[in-house]
Amino acid sequence: MEHTSSSAAFVGACRLIPGGVNSPVRAFKSVGCDPVFYDRAKGSHVWDVDGNEYVDFVASWGPMILGHAPEGVLDRVREQLDRGTSYGAPTLIEAEMAQAVIDAVPSVEMVRFVSSGTEATMSAIRLARGYTGRDKFIKFDGNYHGHSDALLVAAGSGLLTLGIPSTPGVTKGAAADTIVLPYNDLDAVREALEANADQVAAIILEPIAGNMGVVLPREGFLAGLRALCDEHGVVLIFDEVISGFRVALGGAQELYGVTPDLTTMGKIIGGGFPVGAFGGKREIMEHLAPIGPVYQAGTLSGNPVAMVAGLATLEALKQPGVYAELDRKGARLADGLKAAAAGAGIPAFFTRVGSIACMFFTDAPEVYDWPTAATSDTDRYGRYFRSVLEAGFTIAPSQFEATFVSLAHTDADIDTYIAAAAAAMTTL
Ligand SMILES: *Cc1c(COP(=O)(O)O)cnc(C)c1O
Repeated sequence: MEHTSSSAAFVGACRLIPGGVNSPVRAFKSVGCDPVFYDRAKGSHVWDVDGNEYVDFVASWGPMILGHAPEGVLDRVREQLDRGTSYGAPTLIEAEMAQAVIDAVPSVEMVRFVSSGTEATMSAIRLARGYTGRDKFIKFDGNYHGHSDALLVAAGSGLLTLGIPSTPGVTKGAAADTIVLPYNDLDAVREALEANADQVAAIILEPIAGNMGVVLPREGFLAGLRALCDEHGVVLIFDEVISGFRVALGGAQELYGVTPDLTTMGKIIGGGFPVGAFGGKREIMEHLAPIGPVYQAGTLSGNPVAMVAGLATLEALKQPGVYAELDRKGARLADGLKAAAAGAGIPAFFTRVGSIACMFFTDAPEVYDWPTAATSDTDRYGRYFRSVLEAGFTIAPSQFEATFVSLAHTDADIDTYIAAAAAAMTTL
């Protein structure tokens, strides 16, 4: 496969943009090669600037659950473009979209739209602090909640991959009220709540962790957090930026039957446009300006083009059988990869919920938190990544990310990837 145009584009971009990319995970740094520059995408496929075609399992890091450039979404977007792209005034489409989110997500009684997942989590933390009058909050090691200062403390994904435990530029003050605990460790949460009695505003977590690879909540973890939050008057925030509309229309909270007080959303909710949202109990949401004292705002929040794309995406996901089909395809992928690894004698631990899956190259008996995820052989992942890329398949350029299956993937897309994976495994 030729990558000369991508290589030239990368050299050029590096002179103009730090690292040549607008988000560090795109840089392919942890898989030991230069990034591929994309030209276009349709359905389950993407094409790079050298004209190479790939089956895509990155899905723009999650949003493209219908596949790329789905006609139903594009039609709505084209229609909206002629009516104007931003007004800075309320529209009917925002209320329609709010109703769709409230109908879909069990815990959400009111919702506010923002432009990214980062804004959603940052605002939800501020709201929980304003509502409770407390400063501290708990997050979990290896969970990622966007890049706002207080949340960039032992964060996941990009930081884990680059091996930076925290980042310069975040002050001690901004991090001081963030308590970081091991994922899936209910005893640690209980102890922290007792040691910080009446000081903890919120617990924020990914109910299915998707930024240290895919790590599932252990039986009883989510329900246990719910009970501890009730006992201590703490706001429980599910960060469903990945799991929302992905593992079920109502996200992980629907799947596991545990109801948080606030939920943050992103990725799928924008249908490929920049949208985030946070919502939850009316009593808490009514603390937001302009009816409450907690300030939060955005010039492009509820942008009409992004809203119609999100609404069209949610409407497509509401059709009967969608999540069963996503689950069937996810199982086909995960089962195939498992068999390929076993056939080649490569030690690996597999996780999957519906259409998100992860293959950890580790001989650890279980991956259930960041230290166990971190036992993975990232050099082996890099070799695997480069091999399947050359065979025409894009997966996340990091061991600590999810593989995403979309409705647009055919069984043949999945089966040819498994064949490429099996071939790659014999060389690892
Ligand atoms: C991607 C992600 C975010 C941040 O969303 P952005 O739109 O990238 O700001 C927050 N939380 C989780 C769980 C995510 O996966």
